[in-house]
Amino acid sequence: MPGPGAYLIGEEEKKELMDVIESGHFFRYGAENDPKFQKKVVQFEKEFANYTETKYALAVSSGTGALMSCLAALNIGPDDEVIVPGYTFIASISSIILSGAIPVLAEIDESLTIDPDDIRRKITKRTKAIMPVHMLGNPCDMDRIMEIAREFRLFVIEDCCQAAGAAYKWRKVGSIGHMGAFSLNNFKTITSGDGGMVITNDEFYYERAFGFHDQGHKPNRTGVEVGNRSIIGMNMRMNELTGAVALAQTRKLDMILAALREKKAKMKLELQNTPGFQFRKINDPMECATLLTLLFDSKEIADRFAERIGTKTLAHSGWHVYNNMEQLLAKKYEFNNGEVMEYRKHMLPKTDGILERAINISIGVVDSGLGAGYGINIHSSDQDIQAVADNIKKTINEILA
Ligand SMILES: *Cc1c(COP(=O)(O)O)cnc(C)c1O
Repeated sequence: MPGPGAYLIGEEEKKELMDVIESGHFFRYGAENDPKFQKKVVQFEKEFANYTETKYALAVSSGTGALMSCLAALNIGPDDEVIVPGYTFIASISSIILSGAIPVLAEIDESLTIDPDDIRRKITKRTKAIMPVHMLGNPCDMDRIMEIAREFRLFVIEDCCQAAGAAYKWRKVGSIGHMGAFSLNNFKTITSGDGGMVITNDEFYYERAFGFHDQGHKPNRTGVEVGNRSIIGMNMRMNELTGAVALAQTRKLDMILAALREKKAKMKLELQNTPGFQFRKINDPMECATLLTLLFDSKEIADRFAERIGTKTLAHSGWHVYNNMEQLLAKKYEFNNGEVMEYRKHMLPKTDGILERAINISIGVVDSGLGAGYGINIHSSDQDIQAVADNIKKTINEILA
């Protein structure tokens, strides 16, 4: 049960992929004039940069790799703190830890994205960057986040792994901060099974990210290049097979988002005026519309609703909640001055209070790991939408009766 792109794998992906298979050239690098070299990864990068209206795009092997490449490009490492929300996929946090830096968890607000007020509270003299996560397809409050970043001279790395194609005030997410990271795993808006993308408007950061994702080389080497490597890298390259599928999926992104936005609007219309819950705050109508989040009036109503429709509240939806990240909870940093950074269960009371009242209804991303095992998908008809909405209303009315 995957994301919308996975529901739409078809002739277009097959054609791009067959070009590569028939050519026999699977590596992202090749000689410019080699007729066998199909340049699918390069083309994917070009079209993704165009789509997001950024200067540079770098395809990598995963969203986690994309985040790590951003952190490396910005030279974030030991003793640096990065502010990240406590409600996100673990990879946002683990990429910070693996870069040697220290994740500082911040609260979310009723948009289910990072709370700008709490970012301010969490800034210390060690803070180097903010990693806002456009969670569940909803853009973060980027105006306020960029204002804070300018005031305190912080980098902003946008985690867009759940929000390919979303826009905030007419700018595509990922193009607003210093760098943006995307994922193409099976559960995301578009997919190549696995895969990732880094975008930026800064040539220097692009070159560093490129070097990190390869073995320190300058972009688009054609052979073995020695004497020009300024960064230690690790191989996170995308190959041509993945690039071919990712390219075909990128060309479907606008169609996917249009279909989901229409279905979500219909679902919301059916559910408006239903008592017992509110819709989460959406920071821009150009969100992905992959999910519909209901914020119930109380934890008790949310729990009973979840049980009846066979799902879970977001507090219990698995690994997107810091409380459920045992690898993180086991960590501890001791600073030279004796201060200690610990990760405790329930250290973010506002986040906990929101997540225990929240339930995801799938619109395009059908993923019980995200608490969205119930709802519709990109192929659902108007009757399907009606049936799900009717069931939601009936269930709530029974609970409130
Ligand atoms: C999926 C996801 C990632 C990681 O992407 P992978 O491609 O699985 O490595 C990072 N951050 C968020 C918010 C995600 O949802």
